Amino acid sequence: MATIFSKIVNGEIPSYKIAEDENYYAFLDINPLAQGHTLVIPKKEVNYIFDVEDDLLAGMMVFAKKIAKAIDKVCDCKRVGVAVLGLEVPHAHIHLIPINNLHDIDFSQPKLKLSSSELESMAEKIKAAL
Ligand code: AMP
Repeated sequence: MATIFSKIVNGEIPSYKIAEDENYYAFLDINPLAQGHTLVIPKKEVNYIFDVEDDLLAGMMVFAKKIAKAIDKVCDCKRVGVAVLGLEVPHAHIHLIPINNLHDIDFSQPKLKLSSSELESMAEKIKAAL
């Protein structure tokens, strides 16, 4: 059965899309730790990130770098933190999270409750900064 992220890539489920190319797709996390929290995935469905083939895995970080630079421009943060968990969705993904301190990337903290218009507006801002 396709993962929820494959359904996003295929347009069966909506997402706040930031960017895509032939191999990768970036979109806002709908339960973000911070404004601008973005997920980067390979379009190819692989559960565990360290099972992603070498070239695809290396390219994923290069794709994520472009998105992170745009998040940096738009969000008020010291830098963009990177995290990989994969405990919830069995489709490899990198979390890009604008951070100012350790707590900003603490996944045990409550998530932000953002409206769809706030998410839409953030996605537009990041896209414009790409
Ligand atoms: P994890 O697999 O532990 O890295 O967590 C999966 C992440 O995906 C969580 O931060 C969720 O908020 C996020 N997530 C789950 N479903 C969606 C969705 N439909 N759109 C955007 N983000 C999602």
